[in-house]
Amino acid sequence: MTAAATTHTHCLRCRRVLRSAKSIAAGYGPTCQRKVREAAKAEVVATYKPHLIAKAEELIEQGGLVPLRGRHVFQVVASNGIDTYKVARQGCTCAAGLKGKHVCYHRIAAHILSLAA
Ligand SMILES: [Zn+2]
Ligand SMILES: [Zn+2]
Repeated sequence: MTAAATTHTHCLRCRRVLRSAKSIAAGYGPTCQRKVREAAKAEVVATYKPHLIAKAEELIEQGGLVPLRGRHVFQVVASNGIDTYKVARQGCTCAAGLKGKHVCYHRIAAHILSLAA
């Protein structure tokens, strides 16, 4: 057995003992992990506009979010490829995010990733 920085001996959801290396790394058994992911997806779909979720998912697929602290703060490279933003579910340092009027898709991407952890 290898010692990783974050390992879980029990499922975070149902507290059952985790046996597979994959479950131990994820912190959930396979069934709970699926349920957590489904709940996360439902929460995101209920909270944000579909076209913004699509943009957020595209950003995630492109590897556009680099985790800075755990799975909650990320660095995003702007579309010009030069500027970087810091984003968490609660806020973003991009122009739209600083205005704070609407939730930018960076924050939605951070939300999705923090839930999928
Ligand atoms: Zn479980
Ligand atoms: Zn943003």
